[in-house]
Order: sequence, then C-alpha cells, then structure tokens
Amino acid sequence: MNIILLGPPGAGKGTQASKLVADRGMVQLSTGDMLRAAVKAGTPIGLKAKAVMEAGELVSDEIVSGLIGEKLDSMAASEGAIFDGYPRTEAQAHSLDEILASRGRVLDHVIELEVDEDALVERITGRYTCANCGEGYHDRFKQPKAEGVCDVCGSTEFKRRPDDNEETVRTRMAEYRAKTAPILPVYEARGLVRRVDGMADMAEVSAAIAAILDN
Ligand code: AMP
Repeated sequence: MNIILLGPPGAGKGTQASKLVADRGMVQLSTGDMLRAAVKAGTPIGLKAKAVMEAGELVSDEIVSGLIGEKLDSMAASEGAIFDGYPRTEAQAHSLDEILASRGRVLDHVIELEVDEDALVERITGRYTCANCGEGYHDRFKQPKAEGVCDVCGSTEFKRRPDDNEETVRTRMAEYRAKTAPILPVYEARGLVRRVDGMADMAEVSAAIAAILDN
C-alpha cells in the first residue's frame, strides 16, 4: 500500500504518519524531515535548502523528488510508503507517478486532511518536540505530564522548528494554497482522494484513516 497524506502545514500529517508507522509497519517518507536532517548534517542539499526552508518557501522539485527516489530504493518492495509533505507541486506529483511506476508501485489513496487554516497557526506556533526521542508536544494542547520532562524518555531538552513562527507559517500556508492545493483535482480525477476531518481529535483522525486503509 502506498498513500499520500495531503494537507496544509500543521494539518497533522506527521502525527498520523507516525501512527501508521507504529500500527502497520509502513514507512514514512517525509521530505521535510529529510531536508531538516540534511540541513543539520550540512550536506550540499542541506546548504541549499536551509534559507529556503527558513523563509517558508519550497525547495526545488529536483531535490525533493531525488530524496524520495533514494528513500524508496532503500525500502523492501513489501513495505508500504506514506508520503508526508510530498508531492507539493504539480511537477512533483508528475515525478511521483514516474518514480512509483518505475519501481512497480501503485498509489492507493490520497488522504486529504481538511482543516481550518486559522486554527492551524495556533497549532503550529505552539508545537515543540522532545530533543531526544522526538515525541511531539504543544503549549496549549499537549503539555508533558511533569513540567519540562518528556513523558516518553524523561529528557528535559525540547526543541522548536525555526520555521514554526507566525510569519513563516503564513508563507507556508500561501505556498500550500498556490502550489499544493491545485494537485488535488488531478488525483480526484483519478478517483484517489479520500477526505478526513483533520480538526477532529487525533484518535478520531487515526480511526478515519484506518477505515480508509482497511476498506
Ligand atoms: P514540512 O516539514 O513538510 O512542513 O516541510 C518544511 C519545509 O521543507 C517546507 O516549508 C519547505 O521549505 C521544505 N519542503 C518539505 N517538503 C517539500 C517538498 N515536497 N517540496 C518543496 N519543499 C519542501
């Protein structure tokens, strides 16, 4: 099974992808995570991507499609792929078709997480993760049980993404509306789009996605 999770920044794609990894042994292919790792490691791709990401703009189609192809090549044919944050432009959607076809994979579903954009700014600007294990938290919606201590691993170090500030979030939203939303009709014409209410609580969203995958 190969699926795309689509929705604006903060819609919950990463959270839901992690759940699918844990529950079903699928593999999450997040171009955002791959790019952040490249920036951290100081690779040539990371050096190119850093300023673009900090501005909330899109990294080039060639770079992200290259990363996706490499990641798929490292996976076993039996492992399902969850595309998270990719494709983000029509050119990337076209590349993904070729990348999948050349590896004998078929796209099963495009799951759109429908959300209210105003609520997203609050969701994004309040989120942070454990610097050690990556568990996600939120200033308002999910604080650690003991203040300043990760529920999962006990670490006291947390981090925030540099692009999770209000100004950059607005640019990321605008990029989504202008470049990513237009790819939905393409998948719709192919009968692949399934819609889920991304404003529902996390467990309900997971259940709705599970129902689609099990159908
Ligand atoms: P994300 O973690 O998906 O929100 O991505 C963070 C940032 O990485 C985006 O704002 C872009 O600058 C860049 N990025 C991630 N995925 C893509 C993609 N598929 N195409 C272009 N840029 C991307």
